[in-house]
Amino acid sequence: MGTIGILGAGQLGRMLALSGYPLGLSFRFLDLSDTPPAAPLGKYVKAASFTDEAALRTFAEECDVLTFEFENIPCETLKIVSQFKNVYPGVKALEVAQDRLREKNLFTNLGIETPKYQAAETEEEFRAAVAEVGIPCVVKTRRLGYDGKGQFRIREEKDVLLAWNALQGAPLIVESFIPFERELSVVAVRSLNGEIAWYPLTENIHKEGILHISKAPAPAVPDVIQQSARGYVSRILRELEYVGVMALELFEVNGRLLANELAPRVHNSGHWTIDGAETSQFENHLRAILGLPLGSVAPRGISGMVNLVGSVPSLESLATLSHCHIHLYDKPAQPKRKMGHITFTAQNYAQLEKQLENLPEELRS
Ligand code: AMP
Repeated sequence: MGTIGILGAGQLGRMLALSGYPLGLSFRFLDLSDTPPAAPLGKYVKAASFTDEAALRTFAEECDVLTFEFENIPCETLKIVSQFKNVYPGVKALEVAQDRLREKNLFTNLGIETPKYQAAETEEEFRAAVAEVGIPCVVKTRRLGYDGKGQFRIREEKDVLLAWNALQGAPLIVESFIPFERELSVVAVRSLNGEIAWYPLTENIHKEGILHISKAPAPAVPDVIQQSARGYVSRILRELEYVGVMALELFEVNGRLLANELAPRVHNSGHWTIDGAETSQFENHLRAILGLPLGSVAPRGISGMVNLVGSVPSLESLATLSHCHIHLYDKPAQPKRKMGHITFTAQNYAQLEKQLENLPEELRS
């Protein structure tokens, strides 16, 4: 039962392995680059492509169970490896998560509120979609968008042509712009036998389209909002017969939650669970895919996670911060790249805010 195969070898794979070693597990990774962040943490296979059948077969045969840490992996890859070993979550979840239209249709079919939306491919369909949804709206490519990439916000009529010029060529989705009060996410996990557990809602603050700070548990969440988030994600987990960790990103507006998107994997807004929950999202993902009972998702106090994006302050300066847990991903610095994160743990929100106010200048918003 002890060898986990991970497709992708980025920081999520690295943190999965770091959480699995105390359980006596070992790890194999398959990815395409020379020295990805997870490579030093297990046996690393550099493949020529994600559809190299021979490499995938050998890889799968060396593992007991497979998972993926990278949601733009081709569905074809999962189909190939699943001939040899179980892979969780399955291809059904990946297909939905890779296409914003399918994702929104799933939300709608399950009675989950989401922004008004309309798909478009031609300019005529695009103009009709904008007219139907109304301005202001957000245009997104259906596939391969992340961290705000492949998106254009239409604030006024003259932006319509600019948006079309920027994004034409790819199938699009036009969504109404939601003047949300805040962004929240729920990280949940479903085990092989159908047990579901939810971490408390996390509040997420973005900077230039990239997650900057997560606060968990999110402050001042009414019980009805917490229950609504749990209900939404549970419906999705059951519908997709999902096994593992999933994150659902949400907008809170006028006492309601609208679903924005789902991630079929461990998620950046759940990184605080490493230091701030009884069992981390990474360990719970491994427990789920191994058919083990889930660990407690209870928070230990209040956590604030700050992403280190683009460049990392020196370890010396990070190490001077108190109640701070440092996680560096061992990646070459590059603008907008997630290089690491730090998690502050606090007894109460006032203490957390003080810690965040005292962040070194380079880490502030
Ligand atoms: P996404 O890639 O869909 O997660 O979008 C990236 C970010 O853009 C979100 O975290 C929001 O801050 C913002 N955003 C996306 N869709 C909308 C929307 N329909 N209304 C308002 N803001 C949005």
